[in-house]
Amino acid sequence: MSSANIAVVVHAAKDLRLETRNVRDIGSDEALIEMKAGGICGSDLHYFNHGGFGSIRLREPMALGHEVAGEILDIGAGAVGLNVGQLVAISPSCPCQTCFYCLKGQQNHCLDMKFYGSAMPYPHIQGAFQSKLVVKANQCVAADGLTSAEAAMAEPLAVCLHAVNQAGSLVGKTVLVTGCGPIGCLTIMVARRSGAARIIATDISDQTLNTARDCGADEVINTKDEPQKLELFERDKGQIDIHLECSGAQPALASGVACLRPGGTLVQLGLGGDMTVPMQVLTAKEIALRGSFRFHSEFSVAVEMMRSGLINVDQLVTHSFDVREAIAAFEIASDRSRSMKVQLIFTDNENG
Ligand SMILES: [Zn+2]
Ligand SMILES: [Zn+2]
Repeated sequence: MSSANIAVVVHAAKDLRLETRNVRDIGSDEALIEMKAGGICGSDLHYFNHGGFGSIRLREPMALGHEVAGEILDIGAGAVGLNVGQLVAISPSCPCQTCFYCLKGQQNHCLDMKFYGSAMPYPHIQGAFQSKLVVKANQCVAADGLTSAEAAMAEPLAVCLHAVNQAGSLVGKTVLVTGCGPIGCLTIMVARRSGAARIIATDISDQTLNTARDCGADEVINTKDEPQKLELFERDKGQIDIHLECSGAQPALASGVACLRPGGTLVQLGLGGDMTVPMQVLTAKEIALRGSFRFHSEFSVAVEMMRSGLINVDQLVTHSFDVREAIAAFEIASDRSRSMKVQLIFTDNENG
């Protein structure tokens, strides 16, 4: 395999470059992927706009991307159950499978996690926005019947499935989802499929809230324009059973806690840096606080839910750009008023 491999590499804030990288030979448990689609995620945008987030900073050039799908170009002899030419969703998560947490089934907490496009460890874990990529065969989930754009949504959907799993049963519950970007909208879809009786969604953009309604929210509230509408849910110590906080924004957390019933559950999945928790209220109302971080087994569930038609992500992919237009794609993705999910399309263009 000698054809060019284009990688989308961030060097520093606002310094994104297309570079050619070599493709190594595959091992027996590996597959060579011809990338088809890759979604730009919040963490990619943090590296692009700020060179990192929180205490995590770029210390060397890093290929971005972890929401990807592609076709198998070649597979090793030890990789069973996959075929050349098959479309696969690629899990960006590579836990070691031997550490304490992996052996306990908590692979998302692996002590030696290799998660694509992450500057947490050093050397950084290079990302998957590469037109050709060697992956472990066990990262690949067959996506027959899906488009590559859909298959590339498996990762954010898996994040939301994990978060709803953290919440416990949603059957018959009143659920509040704060922050309706791609993660919030997918969370609404999962909550609907999980038996929630009533779903209230909040955001500060009407356009985003329209999508949230299309995704299954019963009521949508623009908390910038009409904050009093959410306050109605504070009645009688609170009306909300489960709050799925997707925004990472302090006001959304605080207002949700005020609306939670005694004994309710708050699941925090938005990563907004430091947020202050109104601990007094949590204590007095006996609210359970659950964090939610990444996923493991939910990745293949996500693919299956899309393949069976239980979850349709099509309307969330608002923009597609050729990988050569990556900078324009990152600019549009950074503007929440103009985009939901922006994907890069990796085309086979020998002139590129
Ligand atoms: Zn993501
Ligand atoms: Zn491990």
